[in-house]
Amino acid sequence: MNLILMGLPGAGKGTQAEKIVDKYQIPHISTGDMFRSAIKEGTDLGKKAKSFMDKGELVPDEVTIGIVKERLEKPDCEKGYLLDGFPRTIAQAEALETLLKDLNSPLDFVLHVDVPQEKLVDRLTGRRVCPECGATYHVLYNPPKVEGKCDHDGADLIQREDDRPETVSKRLEVNIAQQQPLLDFYEDKNYLMNINGDQDINVVFEDLDKKLQTLA
Ligand SMILES: [Zn+2]
Repeated sequence: MNLILMGLPGAGKGTQAEKIVDKYQIPHISTGDMFRSAIKEGTDLGKKAKSFMDKGELVPDEVTIGIVKERLEKPDCEKGYLLDGFPRTIAQAEALETLLKDLNSPLDFVLHVDVPQEKLVDRLTGRRVCPECGATYHVLYNPPKVEGKCDHDGADLIQREDDRPETVSKRLEVNIAQQQPLLDFYEDKNYLMNINGDQDINVVFEDLDKKLQTLA
């Protein structure tokens, strides 16, 4: 079961990743985790990646793809893998395709958790934080007992700068511009599976799971 998981911020990708990993016992491989463990293990590529990161520079694709290769060669990937946050560009997607061919481990699906942009804005702007105790709420999904007030101490809840509509919309635009070419790329190759992410998280997983069961 060789999978890539895609979706915009707020689409609920993380939740679905947990459920997939839980049910199918394949490793969830995120780019961040991969870099962290390569650096911790002190592999040559890990050291190279770190030298770029320390300078605040982007890690070049050949280093990143090398790290992906080392990760996919580990024994826990024998039954498959769930890649998350990689590839980010067409160049990386092409390099990944070559790599997977070399490893004789072709992709099954690119799962795209699809949520309309305006719904994502609602999700991402709904967070409220208590400035006193740090408790977080969501106006839709986890509202406080009294609107605008912290349940613990009654303090006025605030909206962080990052959660303001203008900031959220900009962030989404950047992510859409990055993701769309990849969705097109994988659709052309018939890997793309669009999952309606605009429903209850358990229903999203049921839909997704139906596709995955076709692989079993
Ligand atoms: Zn509080």
